[in-house]
Amino acid sequence: MTISHTGKYWWASILVDERIDQPAHPTARQRAGGPVGMDLGVHCLAVLSNGELIANPRHLRTAANRLAKAQRQLARTGWWILNGSGQPTQLSRRRPPRGVAYKPTTGRLKARARVSRLYAELAARRATTQHALTKHLVTNYDRIAIEDLNVAGMTCSAKGSQDAPGSNVAAKAGLNRSILDLGFGEIRRQLEYKTGWYGSQLVVADRYAPTSKMCSVCRAVKPKLSLAERTYTCNWCGTSIDRDFNAACNILSVATNANNYDACGTQESLNARPAARRASAQPVATTLDGQAIASQVTPAKQLAGHPTQTEARNYKPDT
Ligand SMILES: [Zn+2]
Repeated sequence: MTISHTGKYWWASILVDERIDQPAHPTARQRAGGPVGMDLGVHCLAVLSNGELIANPRHLRTAANRLAKAQRQLARTGWWILNGSGQPTQLSRRRPPRGVAYKPTTGRLKARARVSRLYAELAARRATTQHALTKHLVTNYDRIAIEDLNVAGMTCSAKGSQDAPGSNVAAKAGLNRSILDLGFGEIRRQLEYKTGWYGSQLVVADRYAPTSKMCSVCRAVKPKLSLAERTYTCNWCGTSIDRDFNAACNILSVATNANNYDACGTQESLNARPAARRASAQPVATTLDGQAIASQVTPAKQLAGHPTQTEARNYKPDT
């Protein structure tokens, strides 16, 4: 049993060992949907290569005012300084120094609970959006192509160094917040295990493929494309389409063109990616007496009969 908590809620999750057969091949609905490419973005949460748009709910922006207010309230609360017998004697607006006995005031405890509750609600809203999107994809399409996004690289600060200061630092910080708000990494992690559950397949386009700069019609690559250009206009064939839709089409073609092998020659497009490698993404698990559980079992790993890497590589969708 695993105990975890978010905000004021405590969760007990019970691990059972049950054999669930993996679907051998995609369902009729998944085959009808066929392969789809997805471009994750800030403008729209996702743009699919069939033209479907999934709006960005911008949960952080919605919650920002309430969070800021709760944090201001927390900052106005203080601590009781305790005397030798543990009785509160004096109210302090600042955290008392080391060696002084103190405890938070009732107001501080309440304000602290309010902040953590708001963060827990934000996390729950994010999780709902991500689960709805990934489930929609894995149950409606037999093959989902995504881009291998380098989230750490994308969200690095534009601050630069003292010798070489960066440009547009504030704008990049806002973009970073938006990127992190969406949880691209979590969306990919969910696609990895859910494709296994529902019998669809995940393929990952090469990180360095020019999916934004390439024209999805004639394959010409533009040397430069700024983030502000929302419409992709091809200088060669004259195509003018939405930038993210163009990228989604490219992700689909790059990922399905058997280019999706990494340097070691192994295919990364696996339902069967070993779940253990993602164990750090799981919430911290402890036993009832507070001992950390060494080997965490992820949902994907619980599924007996998960295809091996070789099986997944030799997998051919029914046509
Ligand atoms: Zn073109």
